[in-house]
Amino acid sequence: MKEKIEEQANHVMVNTYKRAPLVFTKGRGCIVYDQQGNAYTDFVAGIAVCNLGHAHPGITEALCNQARILWHVSNLFYTEPQTRLAAWLVDHSFADRAFFCNSGAEANEAAIKLARKYFKENGQPQRYRIISMERSFHGRTMATLSATGQEKIREGYDPMLEGFDFAPFNDIDSVKKRIGPDTCGVIVEPIQGEGGVRTPENGYLESLRQLCDEAGILLIFDEIQTGMGRTGTLFAHEHFSLAPDIMTLAKALGNGLPIGAMLTTEKIADAFTPGSHASTFGGTPLVTATALEVVKTLIREKIPDHCREVGEYFKDKLFWLKERHDLIEDVRGMGLLLGMKLKSDGEPILKACQERGFLINCVQGNILRFIPPLIIEKADIDALIDCLDAVMGQFGSESDISAGGQKAV
Ligand SMILES: *Cc1c(COP(=O)(O)O)cnc(C)c1O
Repeated sequence: MKEKIEEQANHVMVNTYKRAPLVFTKGRGCIVYDQQGNAYTDFVAGIAVCNLGHAHPGITEALCNQARILWHVSNLFYTEPQTRLAAWLVDHSFADRAFFCNSGAEANEAAIKLARKYFKENGQPQRYRIISMERSFHGRTMATLSATGQEKIREGYDPMLEGFDFAPFNDIDSVKKRIGPDTCGVIVEPIQGEGGVRTPENGYLESLRQLCDEAGILLIFDEIQTGMGRTGTLFAHEHFSLAPDIMTLAKALGNGLPIGAMLTTEKIADAFTPGSHASTFGGTPLVTATALEVVKTLIREKIPDHCREVGEYFKDKLFWLKERHDLIEDVRGMGLLLGMKLKSDGEPILKACQERGFLINCVQGNILRFIPPLIIEKADIDALIDCLDAVMGQFGSESDISAGGQKAV
């Protein structure tokens, strides 16, 4: 008899993920379908990746068209899609130059290497240390792990890469104290995603910009999660009318095709010369042609505006829930990067929502994170709110909230 996929996976995969017992086979827009044909409204979007939803017709067409022509030739040569995507990103951001890679961690690796190299090339080789924030998340490679301010993620991998200092998020004085003659930059997520959807306090990012300018060091924004319209503007830092020196992107840039990018100014980019950094797969025509269609669609269909509008609607509804349920401690976030902090473990709520046909996410144990495709509609949000209301109502009166959940159809 054929083994169930879940059971087979547990025998053939390295056990790095805690997975829900769901096997997905297809998706369309904001809906994904499991093997049994049950439909789920997706408020996870592959972890803030599928911003334009699943199987988007225009993007699928761009991918298929490019797949028929040319997939990969390496960066020993030029290709048109890669150049076009770089030009688009440069046109739509503070940056003058782009470097392509394949993931968020790799984009941050490039940023860390460039920050160090920039000062080596500019007569201050002693500057190599980077200040990062507590509860930040920058990736799982050794350098980005070393830049990540979460003990539980770093556990077991000592020694870390030398050269990272940590300051509490939203505490400008502690950043100031940590800047020394050997500091080359500050790396920060404009909104901490994995750390629990933590937003910057008024003036925090502006003060960071000012501190970096005064110290003559680089400000690096990790917009891997907040970028590509997720917060209601193309990049989250646009809410604050300031710009970083280096910005990293990944997650939603390819709507699910793996791509990362590091963007910077011409002056800083000049520290990288032929041979100083590279990636075999970085910016293949297949991936960049698709990503180009993703970013054009974002703007053409005014997705950031839609995100801002439904994001505000969603947040209001979450506040409405908070009024009704003692269990909810806090509601926060921007656009469609929203978090709801609970006074208890979030896992039972997540499971109960899943059984009712809604995929949601939980970070830091008790913070429900809502990161749906940006094309989500108010009716989908209403349906999730009704589900959460029912589940939390039950939670108040029953001990086992996952009992009696109805399977989605
Ligand atoms: C997801 C994420 C990363 C890591 O991206 P990977 O593609 O998993 O390497 C880095 N920084 C932030 C802010 C992220 O959300």
